[in-house]
Amino acid sequence: MRITVLTLFPEMFNDFVSTSIIKRCLDKGVASVDFVNIRDFSKDKHNHVDDTPFGGGAGMVMKCQPVLDALESVRSENSYVILMSPAGTKYNQQVARRYATIEHLIIICGHYEGLDYRIYKHVDELVSIGDYVLTGGELAAMVISDSIIRLLDGAITSESISEESHENGLLEYPQYTKPADYNGDKVPDVLLSGHHKNIKEWRHAQSLMQTKKYRPDMFEKYELSKEEVKLLQKYEDNQ
Ligand code: SAM
Repeated sequence: MRITVLTLFPEMFNDFVSTSIIKRCLDKGVASVDFVNIRDFSKDKHNHVDDTPFGGGAGMVMKCQPVLDALESVRSENSYVILMSPAGTKYNQQVARRYATIEHLIIICGHYEGLDYRIYKHVDELVSIGDYVLTGGELAAMVISDSIIRLLDGAITSESISEESHENGLLEYPQYTKPADYNGDKVPDVLLSGHHKNIKEWRHAQSLMQTKKYRPDMFEKYELSKEEVKLLQKYEDNQ
């Protein structure tokens, strides 16, 4: 998969592409990430990419020409173009899965007060990473790229993905590592038992309980099987 980011600040991504799991994935060729500096497409003699809003008001608005020329320089038949915007589709794991199947994802990052509205009709989808306002789309583009790349074949083991939070409508079960006893705070006995069936059952029950406790909105939407109702009751009664 190829991801192309259109931004005024490509340097913001330096650490993103050169650190930890994402670096490893890019080195292995699991995905490629490239950047287009929108400013390089400015036809203004001062290299301006923004201007004051018609009708007045605070801040600067990114102009059509540099953004659309930058877009056309990389867009092809296989590209899907998303524009970072607080007004967009709310991003979640299902959207990440959908994007992970795309051959070429182009991400446009707005900055300042945002982009000239005429740019919107040239994109396939507006995407928001949450109901708050960032100074620019760069952090949102990193969030989206990171969550997609780790889903791609060869990125990380599929087992670790399938049991993660949000993959099956539930949160993940609690994880522990050594030491088994940290200043008297002990890891649950079942995890030290080596009994795989019991561990699996405990983890499933914990996953249900964590979701019920921390994300009641998700729990309400989740359809419990008869076995899960019994499992939950058994573990809640033993709490
Ligand atoms: N004036 C705009 C508004 O009220 O909707 C906000 C512009 S914001 C300061 C600048 C840019 O940051 C946006 O064009 C967008 O690309 C990005 N951005 C801000 N919040 C975002 C969010 N929640 N999700 C995705 N992108 C966001």
